[in-house]
Amino acid sequence: MQRVAVLGATGSIGASALDVIARHPDAMRASVLAAGSKVDALLALCRLHRPDHAVIADAGGFTALRDGLREAGLTTQPHAGCEALDALVASDACDTVIAAIVGAAGLASTLAAARAGKRLLLANKESLVLAGQLLMREVRAHGATIVPIDSEHNAIFQCLADGSTPARITLTASGGPFRGWTRQALAEVTPAQAVAHPKWSMGPKISVDSATLMNKGLEVIEAHHLFGLPGARIGVLVHPQSLVHSFVDFADGSTLAQLGLPDMRTALAVGLGWPKRIASGVPMLDLLAQGGRLDFQVPDADAFPALGLAYAALDAGGTAPAVLNAANEEAVSAFLQGKIGFLSIPDTVAAALDAMPPQSADSLEVLLAADAGARRHARARIAASAA
Ligand code: NAD
Ligand code: MG
Repeated sequence: MQRVAVLGATGSIGASALDVIARHPDAMRASVLAAGSKVDALLALCRLHRPDHAVIADAGGFTALRDGLREAGLTTQPHAGCEALDALVASDACDTVIAAIVGAAGLASTLAAARAGKRLLLANKESLVLAGQLLMREVRAHGATIVPIDSEHNAIFQCLADGSTPARITLTASGGPFRGWTRQALAEVTPAQAVAHPKWSMGPKISVDSATLMNKGLEVIEAHHLFGLPGARIGVLVHPQSLVHSFVDFADGSTLAQLGLPDMRTALAVGLGWPKRIASGVPMLDLLAQGGRLDFQVPDADAFPALGLAYAALDAGGTAPAVLNAANEEAVSAFLQGKIGFLSIPDTVAAALDAMPPQSADSLEVLLAADAGARRHARARIAASAA
């Protein structure tokens, strides 16, 4: 019986993961469920999935979690705080960890899973952007297995299953809700428009990242760490149908791609079942029913400067990706709260990168300091623009 810890259980990926796990009651179960601050949503999941442990990261939620579990007559043990989460992830309460917390907040538990040598189903791309070298070093040192859950990287993982070396990777991008829009038109878009993704149903942060194309930028950096290619050999093509999830080119002229309907349960089933294929609940692709065509376009660098910023941060190396990620998280949060406009998101990130020249990123302390510095810089700039 595979025991699975679902971190970010109340989120979009968490829901998809629990859906797949529940389809295989003889092979796997959710033994640990963790969430940020939504105690009621976590309790509802505990009633359904009856885990051994439930963790609420926000320590203020502990009493409500404990009392709610008791009232529901569950034997699930309550925990609160990030340290409790990291300890559980590393303990024998789970064999597999689904890292689906949003943002840099997911780094510590992801590292804990890597250091404990777990099977790590990594959705939390921000931890690779912030500390990719360090995380991959821990994965290798402790014999952990990473299965990327980001659909593009999961596609590439599947294309490389025979152990072959990629010559070039192309990540596909849906283009988000504003594909084809000019920079001028983007100035006035609202948070509601930005989170209304045409192809994928996702949490608010990644939805805004998809709208700015920063998501694809974060994914370029993610791909660099996962597959060991420099930025120059990682391309991006806009593919509005979101059916081809990425391509890999090989030295012999072959190109492999993975296709499927845009539903994260496929990637999660790949991770949960690997190397076997297991049912995910996602119907098989019927290309004709999907319109019978696959289109590809070059991304618009002028309207969506975030992608170029991410490539530049990857080239600059050191702490630059950590700065990019942290400034972006702050800017997206400010945009969602209506404090800044859509175009101020990449502007905020660019300003933080300009203000914080890259340093060599050889320790977690240096990276976390860069993350904190970039957040301070971004917040100050956002506050000044609102004044
Ligand atoms: P979401 O906003 O729907 O869910 C986020 C989850 O993280 C929630 O359960 C929340 O409680 C939890 N969380 C937030 N802060 C936390 C903290 N400090 N400690 C513990 N838990 C915390 O987000 P999502 O769309 O599910 O995305 C999760 C991650 O997966 C992100 O890194 C995202 O980039 C990545 N991802 C998502 C998708 C998708 O389709 N949703 C696709 C690819 C990658
Ligand atoms: Mg993706």
